[in-house]
Amino acid sequence: MKDRSLLMIPGPIEFEPEVMTALGMPTTSHVAPDFIEAFGRALETMREVWLAPNGQPFVIAGSGTLAMELAGANLIEPGDRALVLSTGVFGDRFEDLLTRHGAEVTVLRAPLGCIVPHEDIEDALAKGSYKLLTVTHVDTSTAVRMPIEAIGMLCRRYNVLSVVDGVCSVAGEEIRQEEWGLDVVLTASQKAIGVPPGLALLVASQRAMDAFSARKTPVRSYYADWAKWLPIMTAYVARKPSYFGTPAVNLIAALDVGLQQLAAEGMPARFSRHERLAAAFRAGVDVLGLTHVAEDGDYRANMLTACRYPKGIDAASLLPEIKRAGVIVAGGLHPDIKSEYFRVGHMGAVRPGDILAALGALESGLADCGYVFEPGVSLAAAVRQL
Ligand code: PMP
Repeated sequence: MKDRSLLMIPGPIEFEPEVMTALGMPTTSHVAPDFIEAFGRALETMREVWLAPNGQPFVIAGSGTLAMELAGANLIEPGDRALVLSTGVFGDRFEDLLTRHGAEVTVLRAPLGCIVPHEDIEDALAKGSYKLLTVTHVDTSTAVRMPIEAIGMLCRRYNVLSVVDGVCSVAGEEIRQEEWGLDVVLTASQKAIGVPPGLALLVASQRAMDAFSARKTPVRSYYADWAKWLPIMTAYVARKPSYFGTPAVNLIAALDVGLQQLAAEGMPARFSRHERLAAAFRAGVDVLGLTHVAEDGDYRANMLTACRYPKGIDAASLLPEIKRAGVIVAGGLHPDIKSEYFRVGHMGAVRPGDILAALGALESGLADCGYVFEPGVSLAAAVRQL
């Protein structure tokens, strides 16, 4: 029987059929005219999606961690000082990564489920001479969303490069890279961008590119060196073939289709759709009496929801029952509370019906586990929001 489960994890997500068709087309040469057009158009459309009309886009085969590494490898030289804002597992990953590239790293780590307070960031920037700050916009391990607009402004004031890990936010949460003065906004293909895993994507500001050009030492990674990739990106935008490492031809063809769909929806409409669907899902879980890992309602992400299991229920009892009801959700990720919560992704191609299906499956799973509630309450609460 065909597996018709609905994938509602925080990436990879459900992909649009047109994207999958593009992925399955016969592979062309990376210098074929159609591919040159698709790659050039995809790079141009990234500027629209990132709201960074003057930004420098990069598309390189690899996962989101490569996108993080591109920022670290190209902007850090040994001995540079970096400030990492951590709201979970992926903030901590940046500490590790930047240290590997020789940075002297200071971490401002938020208590679990909270944001790093603005005053603490300002205080650290005022006291230290940092070259670069990293912030995880939405940490997928906690569903905490950091207020990156204010952080971008702070970084400009203190002349610090801002790097936003937008793996779990780009193309879903509001980001206006140029207006908000953000220097690098990075992501991967498999989340709200809506393309199967395998592409690292980022857009860099002119300030970031100038900082890269002013390096005194060569980039320590051969594959990640912007000096290798910048001429390639420039050539494809100018609709000329070029080669450094073989591009992921089929994934880039699929990316082009996915990005055209995003641009057609329009970024403001896309941001508000994510906000509306997330509000509906949260209304459903709230009325069921579940509590969130992200403590403050203002900082709960629109891309995913992270909820604690009710007393007496755990991953092994609930998640298979939700799956049996036709929806796949994810377990916990943060090592301190891994067994205490689960995560539901609602990003990208997600529709109102998917929100209702996820809540229906959650209710069905909770009922099977003996949790007591009035059947249908979460659906009614969500429908009121939709
Ligand atoms: N940052 C965030 C916020 C993420 O959610 C993830 C992946 N879940 C990554 C970085 C790393 O991306 P990848 O798994 O594609 O390497």
